[in-house]
Amino acid sequence: MNTAFPSVMRRLIEEFCRMPGIGPRSAQRLTFHILRSSPGDVERLLRSIRDVKDNVRSCRVCNNLSEKELCRVCSDSARDKSKICVVEGPNGVISMEKSGVYHGLYHVLLGELSPMDGIGPDELKIKELLDRVREEEIKEVIIATNFTTEGETTALYVHEVLKPFKLKVTRLAHGVPVGASLEYADMATLQRAFEERR
Ligand code: ZN
Repeated sequence: MNTAFPSVMRRLIEEFCRMPGIGPRSAQRLTFHILRSSPGDVERLLRSIRDVKDNVRSCRVCNNLSEKELCRVCSDSARDKSKICVVEGPNGVISMEKSGVYHGLYHVLLGELSPMDGIGPDELKIKELLDRVREEEIKEVIIATNFTTEGETTALYVHEVLKPFKLKVTRLAHGVPVGASLEYADMATLQRAFEERR
């Protein structure tokens, strides 16, 4: 890195470089931006970072992002409580919600099976899903993990462990491109994939 920068600036550039999608050039640009910002703007940015870190947690029931013990979906009495849509991460919830086609509950697994990386069923919130299926009046589980190798492996596994239960288990239809993460599917594709679930 350019040693012409004061060391405190170099340190901030390095921090930005550690963020996803930020290369050295963007990191420098962000650092200059902060340098030019007013003290008030910088203060607000620092507070926002701190607030997110301190106040956002996992919903006690579905592991979705939430500021309260129960997330917005779980605490909404208008949602269809007979359906659970299983997604890999909070991004999956956001994608499904944007599609506007689904009005049931969610279960966020907080990961996908990846034996190569040592991620097995115990690393995911699968036991919690089974507990919910056992205790709540669930009639359908819709598996909406990503259409990647890990997502498909996870979908097969979830399907398998749900077999002993008397409920309908469906998988989002392909339409979402193979190898794609749910968050990159456009709204129309996701709506169709949901309608054609099987
Ligand atoms: Zn929730």
